[in-house]
Amino acid sequence: MLDKFNREINYLRVSITDRCNLHCRYCRPKEGISLQGHDDILRYEEIIRVVSVAVKMGLVKVRVTGGEPLVRRGCVDFLSRLKKIEGLQDISLTTNGILLEEFAQKIFDAGISRINISLDSLNRDKYSHITNGGDLDAVLRGIARAEEVGFSPIKINTVVIKGFNDDEALDFVRLALDKPFQVRFIELMRVGQQTNLDDVGDYMPTSQLIDRIKKKYELEPIKNKKKRFDGPARIFKIKGGRGEIGFINPVSDHFCSTCNRLRLTSDGKLRVCLLNEKEVDLKKALRENCSDEELEGLFREAVLLKPKQHDLICTENTLKKCRHMSAIGG
Ligand code: SAM
Repeated sequence: MLDKFNREINYLRVSITDRCNLHCRYCRPKEGISLQGHDDILRYEEIIRVVSVAVKMGLVKVRVTGGEPLVRRGCVDFLSRLKKIEGLQDISLTTNGILLEEFAQKIFDAGISRINISLDSLNRDKYSHITNGGDLDAVLRGIARAEEVGFSPIKINTVVIKGFNDDEALDFVRLALDKPFQVRFIELMRVGQQTNLDDVGDYMPTSQLIDRIKKKYELEPIKNKKKRFDGPARIFKIKGGRGEIGFINPVSDHFCSTCNRLRLTSDGKLRVCLLNEKEVDLKKALRENCSDEELEGLFREAVLLKPKQHDLICTENTLKKCRHMSAIGG
């Protein structure tokens, strides 16, 4: 699937629910969100069909996300069905880790060995504050369990918020020194209708963070993408460390020119860019018993709608226009 700018689209992020057991302040609006009903979201068999058709068109990688994917009943069974799709080379899962202690073995047994865990603070009170009541210890137990079970890689995703957790940067780096984890620092995107961050902190460019880390640690860039499925992160080894650290800069240095992805929202829309409102409705077609050829046509339509790059402008208007991350899957 080639788009208008000659980018090969071979990666689909699939949100299986907009429900979440956390309420992160940058992800969901202050006033809460209206959750999609049972009939509004795609059934698992519909998602399997969509992915199977896309694989025939060149899709090789799927990430399952949410909301929180592990809160949707039947998630593990769904993962094992995804795993059976021939030609799909890479399947990974993004989770907040709250339920991971319970699910790690089952997910691994379903054939999924790559996992991303979101973790924005290593301090119990701060973690609870940013997630609106989340239990840090549950996540840490989940990460430990994932390591025990044999997940590799284990990636820890940390959204950097100036004034909130930038002072913990070195603690996160130490996590990658001691453990074979890839800790990735992600720039905060101020999107959605009303991010609930006013009392928390703000965007901080990666460059400032790197300067701070370099004062303490020697970073060795990992050249030539040795790992095919690493995505847009710039990855470094820390001298003497077991793991790696990475930086993802969607705002200060966007990676649109190498974008290879589409997103499937839980309500069955093919979204052409995280930060662009254009979507193609697959659910309607699926529920009207469309043929595989028609589905392929909708994929081609979405691919051709992909913009050259996003325009993340943090004005009041832009904030109002965008769907929330919790609805899109991040
Ligand atoms: N519940 C899962 C989790 O917590 O990983 C999956 C869904 S969550 C929407 C996916 C990722 O999007 C998380 O790593 C989260 O930190 C990130 N995210 C959400 N809102 C964001 C924002 N405004 N800026 C940057 N990252 C964001």
